[in-house]
Amino acid sequence: MKRYRMHVNGEPVDSCSGRAFPVYDPSTEEVIAEVPQADAADVDRAVAAARTAFDCGPWRQTTAQERGRILLRLAERVRQESANLAEIESRNSGKPIVEAEFDMADVATCFEYYGGLATKVLGHVNPVPDNALSLSIREPMGVAGQIIPWNYPLLMAAWKLAPAIAAGCTCVLKPAEQTPLTALEFANWLADVGLPPGVVNVITGFGEETGAPLVRHADVDKVAFTGSASVGKQIVKMAADTVKRVTLELGGKSPNIFFAGADFEAAIDGALFGVFINQGEVCSAGSRILVERPIYSKFVEAMTEKAKHIRLGPPLERETKMGPLVSQEQYDRVNSYVELGKKEAKLVAGGKRPGSLKRGFYMEPTVFCDVPNSARIAQEEIFGPVAAVIPFSDEAEAIRIANETRYGLAAAVWSRDIFRAFRVVKALRAGVVWVNHMQPTYVEAPWGGYKQSGFGRELGPWGIEEYLETKQVHINLNEQPIGWY
Ligand code: NAP
Ligand code: MG
Repeated sequence: MKRYRMHVNGEPVDSCSGRAFPVYDPSTEEVIAEVPQADAADVDRAVAAARTAFDCGPWRQTTAQERGRILLRLAERVRQESANLAEIESRNSGKPIVEAEFDMADVATCFEYYGGLATKVLGHVNPVPDNALSLSIREPMGVAGQIIPWNYPLLMAAWKLAPAIAAGCTCVLKPAEQTPLTALEFANWLADVGLPPGVVNVITGFGEETGAPLVRHADVDKVAFTGSASVGKQIVKMAADTVKRVTLELGGKSPNIFFAGADFEAAIDGALFGVFINQGEVCSAGSRILVERPIYSKFVEAMTEKAKHIRLGPPLERETKMGPLVSQEQYDRVNSYVELGKKEAKLVAGGKRPGSLKRGFYMEPTVFCDVPNSARIAQEEIFGPVAAVIPFSDEAEAIRIANETRYGLAAAVWSRDIFRAFRVVKALRAGVVWVNHMQPTYVEAPWGGYKQSGFGRELGPWGIEEYLETKQVHINLNEQPIGWY
């Protein structure tokens, strides 16, 4: 069992209290590591390091080119270490190794993208009258508190850290309690790539004990949060006292809409991929599958058949297509929704722990059909491998059902009729909409939600904007006294 330390002010450290907590392999239910259990004292220490690094350290004098090169070196280091990182990620989170390898490639790409973008942050010359020169200049927002979930541990860390570093901010990152390991491994290289002490700090702990003091801290200028809607609402309230900038990436209940004319085989694959990738622990999971009535029965039958053959197993085996859920807590949560679903709709696949896997938090890919959109399993985020299939009669009804949700992170529409597909794209109230696909995510394109899925955007040039302030500078070109008095 490995004993990890946190990373504060360029040093590996234990928690101030000396306390630590266990980290599990969800496929064996065994403890694989121990990490420090930070509390408010550790938050103070990490925020002080980030504050000093921002206000007094050499970081503010680094050029955008230097920050870009640091990010490119981080990308390179992630590529060199990706096999080891993917294995740790897979073991700790339960995600299949092949998916973890894709995640590590995306992590490297994210650092690389922001390495390039660091030098492309531009100011403006504002078109004011001739007697002045008016500029808008962009400056880093300051100290960022960054709180992330357990479903894409190092990738979520990269989405937060890369744009912040590019912008010239300093960071205190708190990974999810369940999956802190890859972020701690990553923190070991910060000095090697040239990051001064205090620019990136990683502290491990629980939401209430570590996350909340970070959000409340008066020396933190901005909070970037990814997680559940319920915690997101608390974050906004806690951040209000110090008028922090806040960005929220919250959950979803994303509709995946299939019209009768869509390619049938591609549609079935797309429905399964949309909802079951990463064990369904995906904020943009296509967990509401809307199917046009003429193909509804055939669709449910084909989807159910294929779902039953998805290969569950140990995450480190390369043939595994679905690993265990991340924790006992998450298993219990998903299982309680399965039990509820049996009362609300018709269970046609899965719904239980597979008999062949005696240990680990495994849940079979689960499909409910004939689900009323008002059912709780159609309205509440389950964050597990549970699909709610809902029939619809026409385009207007599909749009109405799709938008009847408090969330608005993502949506997809499958049709070969481009007029229809684009009409639906425009009518959907969601931050990300796919046509004839679901889930591909590009670092170049904006990611974030409408409605209660949050606000702000990550990735692309939008991602760096969230770490920049705008300063207006007025330069008087008239040397004469104002002559007012
Ligand atoms: P969560 O319970 O909201 O936790 C997210 C993070 O917030 C964790 O680091 C957690 O620490 C911390 N936290 C919990 N309570 C807190 C508090 N009172 N103050 C400050 N921080 C607090 O969510 P989760 O169970 O880890 O992840 C699943 C959720 O994340 C789902 O709802 C999913 O949709 C959402 N998600 C959204 C996106 C997106 O891009 N929109 C991406 C991934 C996940 P602990 O780990 O100690 O609880
Ligand atoms: Mg939690």
